[in-house]
Amino acid sequence: MKSHRTLPALALLVCFLLNHLTAAEPDRAPEDPNLVWTPAQVVLVSQQVAPGVFAVFPDDSAVKNTGGVPSATSGGFVIGENGVLVVDTMLNRRLANQLLALIRAQTPKPILYVVNTSYHGDHSYGNQFFPAGVQIVQHVATQAYIQSHFAADVAFMMTYFGRNSGMDELKPQPAQIMLPDGANVIFDLGGKRVNVRHLGFAQTEGDLFVWLPGEKVLFTGNPVISISPSLPWLLDGKSEQSLATMRRLRALVTDDAIIVPGHGRPAGVEMIDYPIGYLAELRSQVRAAIDAKLTEAETATKLAESMKRYSGYKIFPWVHSQVNVPKTYQEMKATP
Ligand SMILES: [Zn+2]
Repeated sequence: MKSHRTLPALALLVCFLLNHLTAAEPDRAPEDPNLVWTPAQVVLVSQQVAPGVFAVFPDDSAVKNTGGVPSATSGGFVIGENGVLVVDTMLNRRLANQLLALIRAQTPKPILYVVNTSYHGDHSYGNQFFPAGVQIVQHVATQAYIQSHFAADVAFMMTYFGRNSGMDELKPQPAQIMLPDGANVIFDLGGKRVNVRHLGFAQTEGDLFVWLPGEKVLFTGNPVISISPSLPWLLDGKSEQSLATMRRLRALVTDDAIIVPGHGRPAGVEMIDYPIGYLAELRSQVRAAIDAKLTEAETATKLAESMKRYSGYKIFPWVHSQVNVPKTYQEMKATP
């Protein structure tokens, strides 16, 4: 008879645990195959990569990145004695709130700064969901782009990330701290010195890199997407400047640095070396094709085959053959 009495208690315990575990997991929608990645499917997690330094990335990054599948945005935060500095704020309210919850799970200290690594919406749209009084740090070109192109940018993002992804409530946000070309600024959080750098054009005019020299951690934003086989997206072309900036970035960090990329899990400096190797090869092969008088279309066909070893990235046919090769061809044709 004893078992009859304990059964309801056991059932209650199981119910409690199930409810508790379900509650711990944010709602997750299924993947939409028509989108680059599905915002409502993303669940962010944090990982401490050095004392007080956290990377934030989607919980399925490991599987997706290794398989060459694009994953959602990564960023992170640094906790000093006086407060917190956040790197990138995600695409929408849902993801910004997940990031805020991950910060609050680690510290009650005030959020002092948000650094946006670029104007790209998946790195900056979440700014408006951060508490009033937070200082937004951007390159001047990033803020200028946001103020002049916001509506068009949101419309563009909706075509890749869905009309129902919570982007209709977005408004352009001002930046309180704007950094010029070549910026090399230290934010002292108390026991944590955060170096914010502009090293030139990498993927946009306003790319900022966040480097912690003491902890040897680098946050890159989009110029480093994730581990190989992911490749850079030269949406605005300028492969020559991009390659030079990536080489400056590599020279900035130590060989044992931990790199937190724009769309994946933290890893080592090989994550910077790989896109440098790709960009150098892309430029030399495009130059050879132009010298051999190939057209843009012929060059794209030739380089799809000759650079096939990079095709592990699932979007290689788009990013390599339709974006990077044509942009680099046009650029190099114009500068003999
Ligand atoms: Zn991005």
